[in-house]
Amino acid sequence: MVGASLGCALGNKPFRIAIVEAHTNVTENTPPSYDDRAIALSYGSAQIFRAMGLWQDISPYVTAITKIHVSDRGHWGMTRINSCDEKVEALGYVITARTLGKILYQYLDNVKNIDFIRPARVSNLKLNTDAAKVTLDLDGQSQTLHTRLIVAADGDRSSARNMLGITTKEHDYQQTAIISNLSTSKPHNNVAYERFTCSGPLALLPMTASPITEPSLPDSSKSSNRCSLVWTQHNDNTDDIMALDDAAFLKKLQHQFGTRLGRFTHVGKRASYPLRLIEAKPQTQQRFVLIGNAAHTLHPIAGQGFNLGMRDVATLAQIIMENESTATDIGNTEALSAYQLWRKQDHRRIIGFTNTLVRVFSNRFAPLSLVRNVGLISTDICPPLKHLLAKHSMGLAGKLPRLARGLPL
Ligand SMILES: Cc1cc2nc3c(=O)[nH]c(=O)nc-3n(C[C@H](O)[C@H](O)[C@H](O)COP(=O)(O)OP(=O)(O)OC[C@H]3O[C@@H](n4cnc5c(N)ncnc54)[C@H](O)[C@@H]3O)c2cc1C
Repeated sequence: MVGASLGCALGNKPFRIAIVEAHTNVTENTPPSYDDRAIALSYGSAQIFRAMGLWQDISPYVTAITKIHVSDRGHWGMTRINSCDEKVEALGYVITARTLGKILYQYLDNVKNIDFIRPARVSNLKLNTDAAKVTLDLDGQSQTLHTRLIVAADGDRSSARNMLGITTKEHDYQQTAIISNLSTSKPHNNVAYERFTCSGPLALLPMTASPITEPSLPDSSKSSNRCSLVWTQHNDNTDDIMALDDAAFLKKLQHQFGTRLGRFTHVGKRASYPLRLIEAKPQTQQRFVLIGNAAHTLHPIAGQGFNLGMRDVATLAQIIMENESTATDIGNTEALSAYQLWRKQDHRRIIGFTNTLVRVFSNRFAPLSLVRNVGLISTDICPPLKHLLAKHSMGLAGKLPRLARGLPL
């Protein structure tokens, strides 16, 4: 999704671009990006798609998040963030990854300056001073491309990273995210819930009832009793929870979440994702840059992974365009170091924020639970603190590139 989004940002710009993807289509079940997981797009990511001219294609398929409700099971602490207080129509938008993938592919297939080569695997990379060389494996046939810049957005197991011997800092959280879609007896009213429980954090994102392949129904007929679940569990518990039948699964979940959304009436297919933090270093070299999960893979607790990748996209696209307009080589080390320097603070902030949430809210130590509840309440009653939290969650903190400010490149 991150690589395809960069392609869309640079569509119809004065470059010839090749996008290489190992899988053929989004309808296949295999590409890791394009499964049924629901992605909470931050306000900032929606802004980037708007400035790229893609929001009109995406917006019919999204569900707006107008409130975020954060609570700690068994304790009194809670925080509520409201779009009205932040003076925006929505704090973020929920869309399934598969739907977003289809829209991005449709755009890439129809834009003139992009060759979308799929299915093909990058099998070798060589970075030379004057050009980089990419070797592709196309169904057993080898092909070579020469380019001024390689952008690797090949995910958490990035083979480009390995080919160039780039090291990673990794932490296994020993946790697994279980995802599914749920029906509830009460409407979600566009509220996203984040609930911290002794068995791990649990998020419920609002969704419309329309099938993912069709636009949301008009407001009057829209059913809002469908939510997307991300339930984090310690690895030791995951197999048992995945093995439960639907009724037992819903009962266990209901016990952890409570009745804010009434009864859970139905659960869809479940999938599980083991969770690790990965940080690559360095993320740029002459003629090469890593973006998205290949550069940083996060815990999904705060729904920030793709949003962080979208800010990589917006920043890199701007730096490429600025260098091109002054006839500067877009693969030169200085240009790419400027990119890395710009992104460093945002990467650090989001990784730090995500890690703190995982550590503080996955801990049963009683004094810590008191501290986190005081934290939740203080945030709820202190508007400046709440505004700061909202700004970070919405992807509007720090120095923003043009696309993230809603301006064209
Ligand atoms: C349960 C869960 C919930 C999440 N929820 C959110 C959320 O609400 N909000 C949010 O912002 N983020 C969320 N995320 C994170 C988000 O899903 C990821 O950050 C995002 O999908 C990363 O996209 P990517 O394009 O960088 O990498 P990937 O999705 O891994 O894509 C990499 C692509 O590279 C291709 N590829 C790999 N190797 C090669 C090769 N050698 N040659 C050619 N192609 C290759 C693959 O086929 C793939 O298409 C969530 C993650 C999980 C696990």
